[in-house]
Amino acid sequence: MKVSFFSTQPYDIKFFNECNEKFNFDLEYFEPNLDEHTVNIIEEGTDAICVFVNDKLNEGVIKKLKKRGIKYIALRNAGFNNVDLEAAKKYEIKVCRVPAYSPQAVAEHTLAMLLTLNRKTHKAYNRVREQNFSLNGLLGTNIYTKTVGVIGTGNIGRVFCKTIKALGTNVIAYDLYPNEELKKEGFQYVTLEELLKQSDIISLHCPLTPETHHLINKQTISLMKNGVYLINTSRGGLINTLDIIDGLKSKKIGALGIDVYEQEDKLFFRDLSETIIKDDKIQLLLSFPNVLVTAHQAFFTEEALTQIALVTLDNLRQLSNSNSIDNKAAELV
Ligand code: NAD
Repeated sequence: MKVSFFSTQPYDIKFFNECNEKFNFDLEYFEPNLDEHTVNIIEEGTDAICVFVNDKLNEGVIKKLKKRGIKYIALRNAGFNNVDLEAAKKYEIKVCRVPAYSPQAVAEHTLAMLLTLNRKTHKAYNRVREQNFSLNGLLGTNIYTKTVGVIGTGNIGRVFCKTIKALGTNVIAYDLYPNEELKKEGFQYVTLEELLKQSDIISLHCPLTPETHHLINKQTISLMKNGVYLINTSRGGLINTLDIIDGLKSKKIGALGIDVYEQEDKLFFRDLSETIIKDDKIQLLLSFPNVLVTAHQAFFTEEALTQIALVTLDNLRQLSNSNSIDNKAAELV
């Protein structure tokens, strides 16, 4: 099995090479994102490609993959909004993913963003290094007793519900398919409208689909409480960025934590410190004191990277052996 990796970072190489000792595949690593141009660097004799969140697998790219003899597309992540699954079906390329590698990693980062924004530890860190020990401007609130609305209670949302509940919050949830286990544990499901109206803190954990695209927009923001905290560690496209900027300007949004951003494919996972960034929306967001941006790092723990490498290579092993995968959630096409 020869596998070409796109959007490769040094940590991908480390974790995949370590894990590959068990599989002995021929792994080749490319740094660029996959698109209609970079698809041409795939060498003859390659069986599979391994891609990440910002690789674009539209019909044009998939058609070219087919021409190059690619049989399998392995996503080394859970979300698959960047893959045209219909096109993969049409060109008979199998697509697999890592449905759940460490929901705790993402849930813990969500909590970290919330606590940082609330207690302003990011500002305090810089302030004391300048020997400024004043507390003015660092005032937070107790999270205890606040109402936290969780949108999407799948693998990550469920862990986040339990994690945030442990702080003594009142957790309410919204999902198209409420989780019976959470209900039995006393978590309350409400409608989306009720959640938006009642929550002091809202955390997004649903996938990006045509239905959830710009779920957070002018109209849904207008239903929220004044000063609401919003955290998005799911996908950037869930939020209409211009509308959230208006929400921040009007102080409707009291704090915003985003680990994902609609136009992140041009920014994240790169060092752009010497570059003039032309995306005015992210520049504006970065200028707000109550906005915290991290560059899609919620998944980034040792445990998650180990599990991602193991499951990805095992998915490919199973596909090449039997054209199917035991864990049906991992098999997309
Ligand atoms: P999951 O599939 O286990 O759960 C998603 C939940 O969302 C499901 O319960 C589903 O019923 C619900 N849902 C779907 N459509 C909905 C809608 N229209 N309204 C309300 N709920 C809806 O997925 P997961 O593993 O919990 O991951 C959630 C998302 O987190 C992924 O789709 C991915 O985009 C994102 N993610 C981000 C990172 C990161 O590093 N920032 C890492 C992993 C996953």
